[in-house]
Amino acid sequence: MNLILMGLPGAGKGTQAEKINEAYHIPHISTGDMFRLAIKEGTELGQKAKEYMDQGALVPDDVTIGIVKERLGRDDCKNGFLLDGFPRTVAQAKSLQALLEEMDDSIDYVLHVDVPEEDLVERLAGRRICPTCGATYHVTHNPPQKEGICDNDGSKLMQREDDQAETVKNRLNVNLEQMKPLLDFYHDKGNLVKIDGDQEIDHVFKDIQSAIEY
Ligand code: ADP
Ligand code: AMP
Ligand code: ZN
Repeated sequence: MNLILMGLPGAGKGTQAEKINEAYHIPHISTGDMFRLAIKEGTELGQKAKEYMDQGALVPDDVTIGIVKERLGRDDCKNGFLLDGFPRTVAQAKSLQALLEEMDDSIDYVLHVDVPEEDLVERLAGRRICPTCGATYHVTHNPPQKEGICDNDGSKLMQREDDQAETVKNRLNVNLEQMKPLLDFYHDKGNLVKIDGDQEIDHVFKDIQSAIEY
């Protein structure tokens, strides 16, 4: 099964991706995670991505498409994959389509996790991530058992640099602008499913399961 998780920053893509990955054993491919890893490792890609991420801007299409192309070519994607945060522009969507056609493959569902804009700032401000395993928490909506500590491995939780208030505003604006044409693109293709993301995490996941197991 080949899936795309779409939604504005803070909609809950990463949170749902963890659950989908656990239940269906398909690799979770997050371009944001790939860029953050590259920054941590100090690679050339990381340096380039950081310039844009620090501003809350999108990393240029050619760079982003390049890393996804390489990732989808790996063996673990042969039985399905879950894209999170990619595509984010129509150009990326078109490149993805061309790439999948070359591989004689296609996308089964595009899951649009829809959350009212006014909830997103609060979700991003309270987001905490584990630097070791990548798990996502929220200080009030999805807290760890012990404050500030990852349930999985005991690491100290961190706040993402781009979740600072000034960057968040720009990220939301940039993503809002790109979202509408992208939704139109997949709506026209007929595999777009809207998921109500304004519910408890487990309910959102149940709706995703109903949509993809139908
Ligand atoms: P995205 O990957 O779309 O940017 P995340 O999955 O990181 O979003 O979620 C953003 C924040 O909102 C996190 O702190 C997460 O714990 C929290 N969150 C995710 N889903 C929900 C939900 N359904 N209700 C409340 N908070 C949520
Ligand atoms: P995310 O982890 O999905 O919130 O992404 C964090 C940041 O990484 C974004 O604000 C962008 O700067 C960059 N990024 C992630 N995915 C993409 C993409 N598909 N296209 C362009 N930039 C991206
Ligand atoms: Zn962890």
